[in-house]
Amino acid sequence: MIELKDLKEAYYAKEDENYAFRVYLKNHADSKTLDEQFLSLHNELFSAYDCNDCRNCCKKYEATFKAHEITEAANLLHMTVKSFKEKYIIDAFGEYQINTKPCHFLADDNSCAIEPCKPDSCRKYPYTNQPDRLFSSLSIIESSRVCPVVYEMLERLKLTYDFKYVK
Ligand code: SF4
Ligand code: SF4
Repeated sequence: MIELKDLKEAYYAKEDENYAFRVYLKNHADSKTLDEQFLSLHNELFSAYDCNDCRNCCKKYEATFKAHEITEAANLLHMTVKSFKEKYIIDAFGEYQINTKPCHFLADDNSCAIEPCKPDSCRKYPYTNQPDRLFSSLSIIESSRVCPVVYEMLERLKLTYDFKYVK
């Protein structure tokens, strides 16, 4: 697995290759088979990787909340929904989005202060165990800039598909 400190440089070194691989998948991969391959890699790689050593997604992305998730998080922190929103949330194109990067709730020990009720957008990230990965291949490529596990998944998939990048 690539180390987090090396990820940004490695991402940019492979950026063109990864976008070419996306085009290759669009033209050659079967959607259902690709979902199974992502799911298998997701289960294998995340079972061997401790996200507490990373938390890069909590630093680079803004979590989004559904209305009921705001209520649950506010309750957990003994706040009103109104004060929770005022303190932590911006309304971004109709989505409730956390208003800072890194996230307010990322603690110094890399734990999440609202872990029991963190939103689905955090629970599901990087979405590599979700269906229709071919449709979402652009966001997967982009996630490989932030998530070392996704970066590794793409490298492993290139081997599976015997993909050779030609500049
Ligand atoms: S960026 Fe990926 S590896 Fe890092 S904490 Fe998030 S999901 Fe885990
Ligand atoms: S709510 Fe928790 S898991 Fe989600 S970005 Fe913030 S610290 Fe990370």
